[in-house]
Amino acid sequence: MTLHLSKGKEELSIGLMGGTFDPIHLGHLVTAEEVRIQFGLDRVIFVPSGHPPHKEAREVSDPEHRYLMTVLATITNPFFTVSRVEIDKPHDKLTFTIDTIRYFHDHFDKRVKLYFITGADAILEILTWKDYQELLSICSFIAATRPGYYLNKLEETIGAVCPEALSNIHVLEIPAMAISSTFIRKRVSEGKTIKYLSPESVTQYILKNRLYQDED
Ligand code: ATP
Ligand code: MG
Repeated sequence: MTLHLSKGKEELSIGLMGGTFDPIHLGHLVTAEEVRIQFGLDRVIFVPSGHPPHKEAREVSDPEHRYLMTVLATITNPFFTVSRVEIDKPHDKLTFTIDTIRYFHDHFDKRVKLYFITGADAILEILTWKDYQELLSICSFIAATRPGYYLNKLEETIGAVCPEALSNIHVLEIPAMAISSTFIRKRVSEGKTIKYLSPESVTQYILKNRLYQDED
């Protein structure tokens, strides 16, 4: 993926949004768009995860399904793109966020500023991630809060664990979005409608491919 700085622009700002996207939903999309506008990002790159690093209770859907749904969901936004970098990693090369951020950091022009967009629930985990100090030095973080999250509490907690991280972590309140992929999967398995929770193309893709029908 080649990016060119437009004339007169000193720096390009790019948001990276990682996720399982099983499936992608309006919570992800509203968050990405709101962050793009508030931080003046030139582009948001969605990065669907490959195979999960540790065996989880639930099997994640085929990466190609998750990739295609992410493409369908982002197709109408000229500022959104989808990367296959994690999807195309060999199965035995499991990825950590740091590897993906490093990949983009090395790949782009040095005048590109990277922002990693994540839900507030995930941000505290960053401080437990492998090489988190390097991570904080090569990109900024934007933590989107879900309903029920308290900004002050989040900042307090981060400040207590790692005060030097605070200047690089921005917390952003997103209009109430209680949607989660878990909620959507559950509704499909119960035979309930999922209309308006994801873009219509994604809803149709889920039904056509009979995804999430046999979830427990
Ligand atoms: P699951 O229910 O399977 O955990 P999810 O809805 O949390 O799925 P993920 O693919 O795990 O979706 O999330 C990708 C990123 O988007 C994560 O950083 C997560 O915190 C964030 N995110 C998820 N749902 C929302 C939402 N409704 N509003 C804002 N951010 C969200
Ligand atoms: Mg999640």
